[in-house]
Amino acid sequence: MIKTRFAPSPTGYLHVGGARTALYAWLYARRYGGQFVLRIEDTDRERSTPESVQAILDGMEWLGLDYDEGPYYQTERMDRYQQVIDQLLDGGHAYRCYCSKERLQTLRAEQMANKQKPRYDGRCRDLTAAPEEGAPHVIRFRNPTAGEVVFKDEIRGLIVFDNKELDDLVIARTDGTPTYNLTVVVDDWDMGITHIVRGDDHVNNTPRQINILKALAADIPQYAHVPMILGDDGKRLSKRHGAVSVMQYRDDGYLPEALLNYLVRLGWSHGDQEIFSREEMVALFDLGAVSKSAAAFNTSKLQWLNQHYIKEGDPEQTARRLAFHFEQLGVDTSHGPALADIVLAQRERAKTLVEMAQNSRFFFQEFDSYDEKAARKNLKPTIAEPLRALRDAFAALNDWSAQPLHGALIATAERYELKLGKLAQPLRVAISGGSVSPPIDVTLVLLGRETTLNRLDKALAFISAQIA
Ligand code: GLU
Repeated sequence: MIKTRFAPSPTGYLHVGGARTALYAWLYARRYGGQFVLRIEDTDRERSTPESVQAILDGMEWLGLDYDEGPYYQTERMDRYQQVIDQLLDGGHAYRCYCSKERLQTLRAEQMANKQKPRYDGRCRDLTAAPEEGAPHVIRFRNPTAGEVVFKDEIRGLIVFDNKELDDLVIARTDGTPTYNLTVVVDDWDMGITHIVRGDDHVNNTPRQINILKALAADIPQYAHVPMILGDDGKRLSKRHGAVSVMQYRDDGYLPEALLNYLVRLGWSHGDQEIFSREEMVALFDLGAVSKSAAAFNTSKLQWLNQHYIKEGDPEQTARRLAFHFEQLGVDTSHGPALADIVLAQRERAKTLVEMAQNSRFFFQEFDSYDEKAARKNLKPTIAEPLRALRDAFAALNDWSAQPLHGALIATAERYELKLGKLAQPLRVAISGGSVSPPIDVTLVLLGRETTLNRLDKALAFISAQIA
């Protein structure tokens, strides 16, 4: 059975690069009926924070990347790492290295001066005893000195490393704590990971990890190294390029479906198809079709996808997302129209859910003042009489629905010899506070009789106050 994992270090928010890696690993597992594991690599205690762990969990949940196992935490597995380090020591695959920092620094400086690649020279490889009882030491993996490490990367193809290029890496520090290359190997082995999907900044770690796995007589998984994401200026994507945190996209009013669709296409394609539902992604994704070269982030394409999913998505589901943004604005939506109806009314003109919530406040809240420009243009003394007549026509309706409302509007406009817009726009300002709203009859229906009539009264009072 296929088993993949996402193994972030909780040293910051979940960024889009990490999210894409997680998505690819998740898709591959789902596509082949396998399992997906979440593992938090929190052994760097200084840089790992609980807030980052939470940000990762929140990001995974928001994107709907569910896991079958985990979250595992490496800090809870320290005894197991110690066990494997002892096993490697006992088997002669690792050794204690007593070289001082100073010695290593001098060695490095010499190698650099001779234009050699800095690497440990293996001085402690064959020591038979400690220089002195209890002397401080690290533990190094005894890397093979001859031969090659060859693996077929699912994305990059055949990759070959000469063992001569790899030195004996430290697997436990002086304080006994295990290093990344050791913990990752133990975990991938224990958790039965068959496919390691990760960023290509780890390519150079792979031969080392394969050698350790071999020393443990463990199965070697398949590897798929995903190329990095660049900003629109060709530089590695970073905060400079704007929002890169997954949760920031939520806060900015993006739908997770849009971000997922955007991320899946960033480095993977299926013909020239652009829109992929979650089900389609699962059915079509394959690691072999992931591009070898870095992809550039393109915010306008993400915006386009967001609008697509706002327009075409399930209104009930979008409504649940929209509720979050009303909360952020401090708008109580427990009274007033159903949020799914707001979505239906607004979805053609909102680029983000933040915009949709902002433009829909008036359905739930009284406004304190009118948009100044809109009021100056539309709430003029000359409109007071037609607006009052319209208010009375509305009040007389038995049926508060689109058709009769529209009928009353047309009849009143005709009576005062006004073009429809000349009455509809003042009405819009009166009931919404501004000059943009969904179609007027939809807006009236959603607002309801009582609120509409109250707001018309308020607008009439506003006009009289101006005259006075
Ligand atoms: N924890 C590592 C990172 O965040 C990933 C390790 C891996 O995927 O092997 O870069």
